[in-house]
Amino acid sequence: MIPYGQQEISQADIDAVVDVLKSDFLTQGPAVPGFEQELAKHSDAKHVVAVNSATSALHIACLALGLGKGDRLWTTPITFVASANCGLYCGAEVDFVDIDAKTYNMSVAALAEKLEKAKQNNTLPKVVVPVHLCGQPCEMQAIHGLSQEYGFRIIEDASHAIGGRYRGQPIGNCQFSDITIFSFHPVKIITTGEGGVAITNDAELAQQMELLRSHGITRDEKLMTEVSHGGWYYQQIELGFNYRMTDMQAALGLSQLDRLNDYVAKRHQISARYNSLLSNLPLVTPWQHPDSYSGLHLYVIRLKLDLISKSHQQVFDALRESGIGVNLHYIPVHIQPYYQQMGFAAGDFPEAERYYEEAISLPMFPALTEQQQDMVVTTLKQVLAA
Ligand SMILES: *Cc1c(COP(=O)(O)O)cnc(C)c1O
Repeated sequence: MIPYGQQEISQADIDAVVDVLKSDFLTQGPAVPGFEQELAKHSDAKHVVAVNSATSALHIACLALGLGKGDRLWTTPITFVASANCGLYCGAEVDFVDIDAKTYNMSVAALAEKLEKAKQNNTLPKVVVPVHLCGQPCEMQAIHGLSQEYGFRIIEDASHAIGGRYRGQPIGNCQFSDITIFSFHPVKIITTGEGGVAITNDAELAQQMELLRSHGITRDEKLMTEVSHGGWYYQQIELGFNYRMTDMQAALGLSQLDRLNDYVAKRHQISARYNSLLSNLPLVTPWQHPDSYSGLHLYVIRLKLDLISKSHQQVFDALRESGIGVNLHYIPVHIQPYYQQMGFAAGDFPEAERYYEEAISLPMFPALTEQQQDMVVTTLKQVLAA
């Protein structure tokens, strides 16, 4: 089976992890701050807080922004459940904004309309989480403009978008957001096994997230409520978690970061080749915003079902049966049973639901060979013709 995504581990990666295993610190050593510093440079941002997953990063980002009971978090229905669940962890209410038919990202027009209604009803969100689906940046400048007008904070879920650029600037520089999140799960662009980061230019938010990732404990006397009792002393000043990244993970991430630009360039080559090989088929290839450089985590096609004799599911199953490990990103979050039980229902976000009826993610990862890619395309052609 050709998977839809796959990590690539080099000898340099293995050596970097083995070096940590032979060192004094498996966790809370020098590799984590080393990785954070390199990522800060790469993202052109001030503070990077490494944690054990992007899910944890989203959670502490929401908490640092003060999200809690009685507050609202809005995100897109076409995302992984973690982008929404982080709001529920904090006791906030979650709601969604429908997607744009062309980019599949949160629609700025739908957001503006929903904000205006919410303003009248006194139900404005405290936090909005735009997700750069497939790596394509959301219209951050416009969303930032709306945040100024309606007074909400922004967490960019850039789990798909490390290595991409928006209007010439690196994703992660937080020019139009309070906090940006990356994920390093193995299917993502670079990996630490499990892992993620929260990035910000705000020193106070960074300090709060550093506390929250490690039990709310500090050894910084400036943050303490009384004079230190001695060299052993620390204080717990918040209710935090153990969300720390290990040094093995950070060393792997640092080593992978060396190849990030090459990886994204390779994804663009693969995408361009798919675009031309698929151009005459009854499907829509991914539209790319001319102002931005996508991280291209995913390559999603949409079937033109009125031109195909098979159903979406039949095409999907036939590809899987032929060894093509296609996937579907994502099932709209609002139709998940957990969210339906909160009152959401099919029909609430029609553009997202239409997308879900047509979308298929084709294999996309840097090590995908031309031969493998040809097999994907040939098989797809056969499946669509039959
Ligand atoms: C993968 C992913 C996450 C969660 O990442 P983890 O590191 O696995 O916790 C969150 N949001 C999006 C959009 C993702 O793709």
